[in-house]
Amino acid sequence: MILVGPPGAGKGTQAARLVDKYRILHISSGDMLRAAVKEGTALGIEADLFMKAGKLVPDEVVIGMILERIAKPDCANGFMLDGFPRTRPQAEALDAAMLRAGFKIDNVVLIEVPDALLEERACGRRTDPETGTIYHLKYNPPPVEVASRLVHRKDDTVEAVTTRVQKYHSETAPIVPFYEAHGILKRVDGVGDPDVITQRITKVLGA
Ligand code: ADP
Repeated sequence: MILVGPPGAGKGTQAARLVDKYRILHISSGDMLRAAVKEGTALGIEADLFMKAGKLVPDEVVIGMILERIAKPDCANGFMLDGFPRTRPQAEALDAAMLRAGFKIDNVVLIEVPDALLEERACGRRTDPETGTIYHLKYNPPPVEVASRLVHRKDDTVEAVTTRVQKYHSETAPIVPFYEAHGILKRVDGVGDPDVITQRITKVLGA
């Protein structure tokens, strides 16, 4: 399955719950790129050339990495993509590559949150680098013992979030009608308690 939504919609928060529930692997393209570079795999070395130059890693490199990853035994039960595809051409390329490799995307879950809420969510986000747990200063306050090590992303400022949300609408939102036409898009209201949203997702997945 694929998890889609604007920055701050709660993709990371929900992904952590869903992978536990369905025992599938969570694949974040950003995390995977950084890991491949660190491990020095052939794909990682190639990706690093682009990243070092401040350029976007080409679609075929990212798709190659995803295909390589989902072919591993721990993905036999399924996998969840988060952060990819980000554009309609990426969605089309991913679809073609998946088909060739014998994989099928069953569900695309779109977490819908009004723009007005995204800024507050992203600006209050703090992540624990040791456990990967995502907190929010107001909605999911971190325990005091982890407070000093929490990371506040550089792009979680009001200005950066506004730009990322605009970019989501212009570049990523066009993947929605693409998956809708394939009959696999499930819309979920992303406003409310995270537990309630997990229930909504579970319901639309029909499990
Ligand atoms: P994404 O991965 O879509 O960018 P995150 O899961 O990182 O979003 O969530 C962004 C911020 O919003 C985090 O600080 C998270 O704790 C908070 N958050 C996530 N889901 C909810 C929710 N249902 N209600 C309030 N805050 C939420």
